[in-house]
Amino acid sequence: MTKSPGRRVGVLGGTFDPIHIGHLRSALEVAEGLTLDELRLMPNARPPHRDTPQVSAQDRLEMVRCAVAGVPMLSVDARELARDTPSYTIETLELMRAEMAASDQLFLLLGWDAFCGLPSWHRWEELLQHCHILVLQRPDADVEPPDALRNLLAARSVSDPQALAGPAGNIAFVWQTPLAVSATQIRQLLASGKSVRFLVPDAVLAYIDAHNLYRAPN
Ligand code: ATP
Repeated sequence: MTKSPGRRVGVLGGTFDPIHIGHLRSALEVAEGLTLDELRLMPNARPPHRDTPQVSAQDRLEMVRCAVAGVPMLSVDARELARDTPSYTIETLELMRAEMAASDQLFLLLGWDAFCGLPSWHRWEELLQHCHILVLQRPDADVEPPDALRNLLAARSVSDPQALAGPAGNIAFVWQTPLAVSATQIRQLLASGKSVRFLVPDAVLAYIDAHNLYRAPN
């Protein structure tokens, strides 16, 4: 394979309420498997009234920072939290692109469910002008796409994610078995006074404990 001249940058958005080992293993496996230079975890802004009680956007961000500290390929991109309302992905990608060289490759990571919802996204048909899309899919999943995406997949998908060439424009599937952990489960464990050790990195656990997050009020 000829080495692409540009940097290879991935981006994974999420609520990260809190970040856990499922997110981190998935991110690391994509970064290693696709030889990315950097994979940015991007916490999403939510309207302030939708934040979990006791847990602010700043806390979610700090936990992501704790999680990636010392992990060379993973980083944090806080730009969507600079606003307190949700950002459109297309606008985030435009901003990222403006900071990158024209030959740099940008990869947007999306779970299958998010990918299927694409046709409802603001200016969704422009997304591939700025990035490639990596669809994270379970090996055992059924992959019948919605009708609105059939033509796009036929025109833009490539079977080998390693073969994605150029800065943007194609779609590839990445098959991964996700770890059976969710942020919902972690919030529930904490609210019932149980431990989440080994479900989140130790540094994240220390942050949760120090700030008394997600626990039921005494
Ligand atoms: P919640 O339980 O609050 O819905 P979550 O654990 O699903 O949260 P999100 O912040 O919503 O976490 O997820 C961000 C991204 O990470 C999404 O694309 C989601 O599909 C993916 N993701 C969530 N859990 C896992 C997991 N265990 N393994 C791999 N990817 C995951």
